[in-house]
Amino acid sequence: MASSTGQSTPLDTSTPSSASPSHNHSLTSSLLRAKPYKFATQCATVDNPDPSHKDQHGASSVPIYQTATFKGMGGQYDYTRSGNPTRSHLEHHIAKISSARHAFAVTSGMGALDVIFRLLKPGDSIIAGNDLYGGSNRLIGYLKQHNGITTHHVDTTVPASLLPYLEDPEQNVAMVLLETPTNPLLQIADIEAISRLVKRYKKDAIIVVDNTMMSPYLQRPLELGADVVYDSGTKYLSGHHDLMAGVISCDRDDIAKGIAFTINSIGNALSPFDSFLLLRGVKTLSLRIDKQQSNTIQIANYLAALGFKVNYPGLPGHPGKEIHDRLAKGPGAVLSFETGDVGMSERIVGSTRLWGISVSFGCINSLISMPCLMSHASIDPAVRAARNLPEDLIRLCVGIEDPEDLIDDLEAALLEAGAVRVIDEAGSRAKLERVGRREKVVELSSERKSVEGQQGRAVVEKLITSAPGKVILFGEHAVVHGVTAIAGSIDLRCYCFATSRSDASLSLVLPDLAYSQTWDIASLPWDRIRASLKAPRADQAPDQELLTLLSNGFVKPDVIQAVQAAQAFLYMYMHLCGSTRPAQTYTIRSSLPISAGLGSSAAYSVALSSSLLYTHGILPLPSAQISREHADVVNAWAFLAEKVLHGTPSGVDNTVAALGGAIAFRKAVKGKEGSLEGIHGFKSLKFLLTDTKVPRDTKTLVAGVARRKLEEPDTINPLLASIQSISSTAQSTLASSTLSRVEQLETLERLIDQNHQHLVSLGVGHAALEAVRAKTREEPWKLKTKLTGAGGGGCAVTLVPDDFPAASLGSLQSALAASGFETYVTTVGGSGLGVVVPPSSSSSSSALSEGGAEASRVPDVKRFEEAGSEELVRWAEAAGRWTYV
Ligand code: PLP
Repeated sequence: MASSTGQSTPLDTSTPSSASPSHNHSLTSSLLRAKPYKFATQCATVDNPDPSHKDQHGASSVPIYQTATFKGMGGQYDYTRSGNPTRSHLEHHIAKISSARHAFAVTSGMGALDVIFRLLKPGDSIIAGNDLYGGSNRLIGYLKQHNGITTHHVDTTVPASLLPYLEDPEQNVAMVLLETPTNPLLQIADIEAISRLVKRYKKDAIIVVDNTMMSPYLQRPLELGADVVYDSGTKYLSGHHDLMAGVISCDRDDIAKGIAFTINSIGNALSPFDSFLLLRGVKTLSLRIDKQQSNTIQIANYLAALGFKVNYPGLPGHPGKEIHDRLAKGPGAVLSFETGDVGMSERIVGSTRLWGISVSFGCINSLISMPCLMSHASIDPAVRAARNLPEDLIRLCVGIEDPEDLIDDLEAALLEAGAVRVIDEAGSRAKLERVGRREKVVELSSERKSVEGQQGRAVVEKLITSAPGKVILFGEHAVVHGVTAIAGSIDLRCYCFATSRSDASLSLVLPDLAYSQTWDIASLPWDRIRASLKAPRADQAPDQELLTLLSNGFVKPDVIQAVQAAQAFLYMYMHLCGSTRPAQTYTIRSSLPISAGLGSSAAYSVALSSSLLYTHGILPLPSAQISREHADVVNAWAFLAEKVLHGTPSGVDNTVAALGGAIAFRKAVKGKEGSLEGIHGFKSLKFLLTDTKVPRDTKTLVAGVARRKLEEPDTINPLLASIQSISSTAQSTLASSTLSRVEQLETLERLIDQNHQHLVSLGVGHAALEAVRAKTREEPWKLKTKLTGAGGGGCAVTLVPDDFPAASLGSLQSALAASGFETYVTTVGGSGLGVVVPPSSSSSSSALSEGGAEASRVPDVKRFEEAGSEELVRWAEAAGRWTYV
């Protein structure tokens, strides 16, 4: 340990008392000598921590005292674990450049954090950022499991997000752990504001800052209110990636005492040789960072000018830039940027030569990496998604090479990967354009003019398809972690009416969202379709670049809810229209409430995919029942549409929408195979669905459970195991041929109650759902209710026994409506995908339009567009004879 106080260093700023006005030149020179040295000078000049101990030979570089023990008694050093002269020099130097009273050098950055965490005791809690270095997260997980110390992750870019924990008297918040800028998103936390806030509520809480990204050159958090600062010395302090080290600095004597005790007790102080190397590295710290930072600014500007989304606090408009500018002396030498496509990012990273593909940063050599595949791969993908960590993110850790070489190499990689293209070769640097940007769309449109007039006719001129919504009866949320979910179709459906037209245009009309748009088919970006996407596989991700292109350049943004639906529509049309590219209008309606967790998007995906497959002649129209093989093809495409709409859907909703009935679904997780079984033989069940109309963010709710599973495995894992046993019991109860109907319903009611309680314990409940439960439990109804789907609002399901009087059900619905909820009575377990060719169709090849069609009138699109929910069902029934899976 080194203490920088009480010594005469060049930092002393006291006015010399001996100054005499009669000796002007000596006054000037004394004042000049009293001026504190600038940082670069401080780095380069290593002072003796104890001037009374002079080096016997006058060595101008601190020698390596490569010895474990020291002879004699009562000397300053006896054993290297407790103290070593080389390490003392280093620690003294670190304290000086960090403006700290105390500094310590240990064997790694993680070793430093471990030592700091040992200031805590069981029962304490930590508030930490939600974009922390992965290794810090891992250690936090260990503390939770073995030491009874919990961590609350918050968005530290918003200081107020700490308040719920600071204000909660039950929370023993003993430490706040901050990183700013974060790695790799470069998010900014206001150390000053957070320190003030924390001290107001918990004056003894220790504020710790991981300063690795900045180093003491750019940011000195002790001056901003922090109590303890640590750096991974492996990074900028050493600068050459030739050693591992961690340094800790602090001002408080009590904290320094605790840290010194731990380091001596556990023995992780830095070795003499590594102390020597680190001291040598620190001497050039400011020189290196100046160069690395100026290179980074040039590279950030270069990428931003090409239109990439660049995260770097040196760029105007970076969120929190003003805060960062106040806290730090510069933006640093790490940036990240997004390409919009994981495959593209992989190609860019793989195509660089000068940039080394490596984790870590701070080295004089430039490094490139994809955090989600490398440094942050240990973080659960769901948590990564919740923290908005894009999978395509590329991180650049810039070194001291010539910036022109760095940009040349990056440019070559961008070109080779197809991320940019040359638009003008004249001049010293070719003019590039990012592929897939809006300008490109405009240009493509004019290029495509030549194919105008090639549009063919749809094989089926008019077709109506429909698909049901679903309820998850048991196992929601747990299904993400490999637990079985039981889901069933409901008799609220999505209807897709496709009609041919003759003007080389394509229209999508979504009356429920007050959206409609028409495209000139020739103007769509046809050259961007990859052959590999022609047949979807379950594990295949949609082409993100094409999706970005579609949503930025082709879908009008004014109806926010419709943007993804339209993007999915264009994506599916472009992949399923073959070379004829028929001119059509798709009008899509839903009797299902949209975004209420009842599978409306999956019903949309199935109704749309089947319509495209049949009208474009990829699947022949069924002559009688829709075969399971056809339903599977539709389901595969619908799953792709669901991925476009949701990112990472479980596959349950589209499967129920395609196949109908009820299923037991288990997702494949961590090497365990998934499964999907139909549940057969049960008589359909009546449910009351209640839409609380409380909006919720499914992604955040799912990620919240995932995070708690990581942080509180002892609480969450038993809940998941219990939900598995509920789903298994429900599956066998529904399929049972021996249980009586009454026994079946009684068991399901018990399971409904239990599963709901578990969901509340998982943290996805909501007061509105409890209000619905309380109402349905009241006399005379006494029914059992649980949330269904994501929770946090959304919908509840209430099991309605077979003999439940219709009048009672009506009065319950009125009571719920009086509380502002919307109700639907539905049966669970009915038909899946349905299809009907309305009578006017020119296609007479199918039996579908016969019989029932004779009895029905030509369906009126206007009525279809305008019908209310119940009228819609009647309109569809009158459209012809439906065929189902
Ligand atoms: N903190 C940050 C921000 C880091 O990036 C790292 C390592 O990458 C560490 C701490 C841990 O440092 P070390 O690898 O020296 O243990």
